[in-house]
Amino acid sequence: MAYQTLNPYTNQVIKKYANVDDSFVENALTKADNLYRKWRNEPNSVEKRMEILQNIADQIRKDRDEISTAIVNDMGKLFSEAQQELDVCISIAEYYAKNAKTLLSDKGIQTPTGQAHVEYHSTGVIMAVEPWNFPFYQVMRVFAPNFALGNPLLFKLASNTPGSAVAFEKVVKDAGAPEGSCINLFVSYDQIDNIIADKRVSGVALTGSEKAGQQIAVSAGRNLTKSSMELGGSDPFIVLDDADLTELQKVLRVSRLANVGQICVSSKRLIVTEKNYAKVLQMYKEAFSDVKLGDPFKEDTTLAPLSSKRAKQELIEKVNNAVKHGATLEFGKVNEDLSNNFFEPVILTNLTPDNPEYWDEFFGPVGLVFKVKDEQEAVTVANKSNYGLGGTIFGADYKHAAKIASQVETGMVVINHYFLSVTYPELPFGGVKNSGYGRELSEEGIKTFANAEMIYINKDDPVI
Ligand code: NAP
Repeated sequence: MAYQTLNPYTNQVIKKYANVDDSFVENALTKADNLYRKWRNEPNSVEKRMEILQNIADQIRKDRDEISTAIVNDMGKLFSEAQQELDVCISIAEYYAKNAKTLLSDKGIQTPTGQAHVEYHSTGVIMAVEPWNFPFYQVMRVFAPNFALGNPLLFKLASNTPGSAVAFEKVVKDAGAPEGSCINLFVSYDQIDNIIADKRVSGVALTGSEKAGQQIAVSAGRNLTKSSMELGGSDPFIVLDDADLTELQKVLRVSRLANVGQICVSSKRLIVTEKNYAKVLQMYKEAFSDVKLGDPFKEDTTLAPLSSKRAKQELIEKVNNAVKHGATLEFGKVNEDLSNNFFEPVILTNLTPDNPEYWDEFFGPVGLVFKVKDEQEAVTVANKSNYGLGGTIFGADYKHAAKIASQVETGMVVINHYFLSVTYPELPFGGVKNSGYGRELSEEGIKTFANAEMIYINKDDPVI
């Protein structure tokens, strides 16, 4: 794969990057492993890293415009969206800067014959393989908790976002992190396999498609390397009978069109009970019409291009295939001739389980709308999916909506807001089914690649 920044809006190649060779990789592994061992024996090591995490947050604040420009040039999102992405990264770094020590504190356990406790220790170098859709945020989700714990990071971002990868490595270095803390690798898939097989690597985190997940999980399994998988999603957005439609109107557009729909937790399936169906479908069409395609750097642009020519072609094929197998193109049209990798939003209805596209993920501005009789049918449709990442429920009786949420088979559900509004670092992020396994962020995220070491003291009832 060729690492290059090819601006999706202008179709111009801005910069190409050479792959690194095996000796570079070996050197990176050595540096990271040496640092891991140094940190393990260093007094107040967590506290020192917490200070550096705060410096990283401050450094991102300082470099916000420059980094945002790199992100936009790489994958084409709106400049304002790139800035929001960085704000979330700042909040993640600051969360672990403030809370890592508390999150990692020992947990006492009483037993009938003595007492025990669990300590949380670092385990070694972590390899992260990350996608292009949030090139800074995805790396930060793995880097910050592992850095706080004492696990150095090697990372490989998607081949179309090398500018963001370079910027991430730089911001960590400029903030004063020791050498080996976070190393960007422009590597091939084979080199990633070798890295996962290396004994110095204690875990691999993958965010990406199911296909990449299967391949990395096999590689991890072969080497008994711990893995976490953050994969695709086709999140349900359930509108109950008592939903507040005025509030709903405020979030419909962003729930699906933010980042041009290229978000794992974008609300890809709008499931509406009969009572509100016609009205909500109309609102959805209006929301989808209210977009201005244009240069992502311009403030009045509201819909950026897709990330690449290939992404656009794949989406066109998926929508056409869905229609060929019986879905209705309810709104918009598939305009293959649009320049600058633009894709105008479309809405599909009548997408049934016998349609092959029903089971897949539409990674772009495609809204799927489902009409259901009542809330029980809404849950059935929500769960009829290969995925189980996130979900949203709108219902004025929020306690009742929370009970419905418990029946939804996903890793996360948000009630009466759109999913992206709750990108808080203290909330665990992850899914079930083909959306993967493991959790990032929160207390769980810092423990994903920790050794929860149990120490038992035979205090009350000595054996001898
Ligand atoms: P992708 O094609 O699977 O790529 C993701 C990363 O994996 C890239 O760095 C890619 O490198 C690498 N990769 C792919 N196949 C590999 C292999 N066999 N060995 C080693 N590395 C491999 O996914 P994408 O198109 O970039 O991202 C979109 C997908 O990510 C969607 O399905 C989306 O839902 C999912 N996603 C999930 C989450 C979550 O938290 N659950 C968040 C964001 C995105 P190259 O670029 O060099 O191919």
